[in-house]
Amino acid sequence: MSETKRPPALTRRGFLKTTGAAAGVAAAAGAGGALPQLAPAQASASTVTAEGEHTVYTSCRGNCGSKCPTQVVVREGKVVRVSAAELPGDDAPRRRFCVKGYTQPQRIYDPDRLKYPLRRVEGSERGAGEWERVSWDDAIDEIATKIGAAVQEYGGTSVAVWSSYGSYGVLNGCMAGYMSVGYGRFITALGATVLGAGADYAQIYEQSTLLGISGNDQTDIVNAKTIMCWGGNPAEAYIHDWQFVCEAREAGAKLITIDPQYTASAMHSDIYVPIRPGTDGALMLAMANYIIENGLTDEDFMKSRTISPFLVKEDGTYVRMSDFGVEPTQGPISSTTGKPTTIDPNVVWDAQAGEARQASEVENPELLGFFEVNGQQVQTVYQKVKDLITEYTVDKASEICDIPAEQIEELARIYATEGPVAVLTFQGLGHHVNSHHNFKNLAFIAALTGNAGKPGAMMTRGTCGMYPYNSKAYFMGTPGASLTGMYLPQIMETGKWGAQDLNIRVLWCCNGNVLSCESGRAELIEAVKKVDFVVCVDVNMTDTAQWADIVLPIPHAYETQDFDPVCATPYPTFYRKAVDPLYESKTDIDILRLIADKLGMGQIYDKTDDEFLHLVLDTETNLAYGGGYQAFENNTLGRNWSFSDASKIDTFKSTASGRLEYYIEKPAPRNNFGQEVADYERYPYYENAHEAYWDNPLREKYPLMGCSQHHKYHVHSQCAYTPWLRELEPEPRIKINAADARERGISQGDVVRVYNDHGYAVLKALVTEGIKPGVVSIPHGFQADQFIEGHTQDLTSVVMNDFCSNSAFYDFLCEVERCEGGDR
Ligand code: SF4
Repeated sequence: MSETKRPPALTRRGFLKTTGAAAGVAAAAGAGGALPQLAPAQASASTVTAEGEHTVYTSCRGNCGSKCPTQVVVREGKVVRVSAAELPGDDAPRRRFCVKGYTQPQRIYDPDRLKYPLRRVEGSERGAGEWERVSWDDAIDEIATKIGAAVQEYGGTSVAVWSSYGSYGVLNGCMAGYMSVGYGRFITALGATVLGAGADYAQIYEQSTLLGISGNDQTDIVNAKTIMCWGGNPAEAYIHDWQFVCEAREAGAKLITIDPQYTASAMHSDIYVPIRPGTDGALMLAMANYIIENGLTDEDFMKSRTISPFLVKEDGTYVRMSDFGVEPTQGPISSTTGKPTTIDPNVVWDAQAGEARQASEVENPELLGFFEVNGQQVQTVYQKVKDLITEYTVDKASEICDIPAEQIEELARIYATEGPVAVLTFQGLGHHVNSHHNFKNLAFIAALTGNAGKPGAMMTRGTCGMYPYNSKAYFMGTPGASLTGMYLPQIMETGKWGAQDLNIRVLWCCNGNVLSCESGRAELIEAVKKVDFVVCVDVNMTDTAQWADIVLPIPHAYETQDFDPVCATPYPTFYRKAVDPLYESKTDIDILRLIADKLGMGQIYDKTDDEFLHLVLDTETNLAYGGGYQAFENNTLGRNWSFSDASKIDTFKSTASGRLEYYIEKPAPRNNFGQEVADYERYPYYENAHEAYWDNPLREKYPLMGCSQHHKYHVHSQCAYTPWLRELEPEPRIKINAADARERGISQGDVVRVYNDHGYAVLKALVTEGIKPGVVSIPHGFQADQFIEGHTQDLTSVVMNDFCSNSAFYDFLCEVERCEGGDR
């Protein structure tokens, strides 16, 4: 049997006929659920709600960041309705849901869902879309044989597991590659290669990992007097934040949106700043200079809660008590290394005593100044950073960012004097190659003004923490190699990763759709073509699955049981199985069990799923606090015991110094392959984007700066084929400013070709005043067959900043032309 093409998308009417569930879905979409609700605090996992129906408490598994607690109503073994779970007490305002959640049943009962294993038809080209059905036995045999042969000939690292932004789970895998029982045990037992995601690491790596800053809980947004939506559109893309933004607005808060696109959030704002893409870092540094020059700093905060007074030597390292002969002591065990940390206290200059002393013992340290300590010239961190950023004056930033100088001054004044300020950061701040610098810069202006670590004051909106878990359950050893998947083209070309030989022969794609959702699609596809054998596991035939040799069907999230320790709400995401998996789908961990058996390493999965969940969740501490697996068995919305009112505000407990940090003493690259690390990785800094900057000579050929947007009908590519969502937004359209369109003879709805040296895409034009002239934007999440030709990610490249290995989603220049006969 050969399968080549998706049938046309179902209409709403078609869907109603297809599933007996539709009436229920429709009722839920309109009314949020018509049946009586049970108090979730008492609800059991599966609660009878009406004759023939029962409700299962679980969580929406879209990777949109919300992880909404969800109730799934099941009738006759089918999901008939999903809606937001009611939340008790003070958590009630966190109840939320969106159209992507309501339409999940359409994903489950999608007639085009992958139903059984598929093998590329022998003799057909990879990517040609010609498939034949195979039995699970044959598929597993073939995969195990290929993996076994590759390991025998080239070693464990020749098998690479590539994960991305899909659903998360401690059993079945996640973005971080091997942080799950299923993949972690398989990868570490084989010594295989982990290929991780590239997206969003500007913020994840720089802010969370290096600086240790998390942000306040989203409910704290209501305490802000000023809210800055920086580089995003929460009204559509982060609805879980938006409700609290609206509440703060009703209480009188000022709303500012900084974005090249005039979004729904911008429309509701008091001040809209149409910044040039990729220049936010320059704006932050100019704000810092204005705040310093105009005496708007909060010196008490800087002295007591930031690293500003710490003394730093000429080589960039801190002066510490060990410099005075005081032996460092042992600190708590690091959750990342598993080893004890070292405590070697920082030193400041005591203004009264006129000498260097341990920071914790000095009430009034000098913030500025050069000093001599032990015969060495030292200065305060603040002095050093202040001197390093002076070139970013308001006038200079005005030119770089294309914002009037007066507006930059106004922003700086508001930020410094109308706090507490909640800055809500989004992809616009982190999707240029080197945009990780933004997060040091943002930490610096927060440190100058006290806009962090207090109610209503945050550098970003945080999560509700991490549910404590036992990650040792994931590993049998260590991976053979671990790096960002975006390096695949380079590795396939050279057979090297730094000094290490790396000969990848088998590629396993899971937990996401890398060939649609990572930048540099064309280069990635060329690299995938060079791999001998490619497996992809997914619910649908995605852009990535199209390039595999074998595609394996996995269940929808409501058909499996799993757990995600990252908490978006105080209710950890325990994914409870609502219905049995459809067709022949098998979970990732069950597939891996079958392959491990064939490879003679079946003992790595020596427990059932339930037993593994117990192993992960039943830590001593969880059990002591009434948490662990049992808590979810009895009450599926069991609250995260480790999340408290106190932990709603990020008080810098996770930073190395316990203070707000904006300087990195020993900057370590995310992927270390022996590269040089520039000194500027230590401090607030601005540099042009890799490609998308105004003065780039390439603009003569490609004058438009490209970017993208997340919005309400997509979670990456997960909802790409959801019929009702495609009725609302059937196809991708490129936003282009009316003046740019006029110049090119492009009218509303024309078919246009957008192109650059990386590739091209053909799609319709959305001509609007709602985007800055010189900028175009294509929505994220559509699949290749939804473009007339090409793909958004054909316009981007795999180039990365080697320090934080962040993707180039918004970092491209392009030109747009009307297609011949483009008014069709
Ligand atoms: S897609 Fe996101 S916001 Fe929408 S229901 Fe699911 S978790 Fe909630």
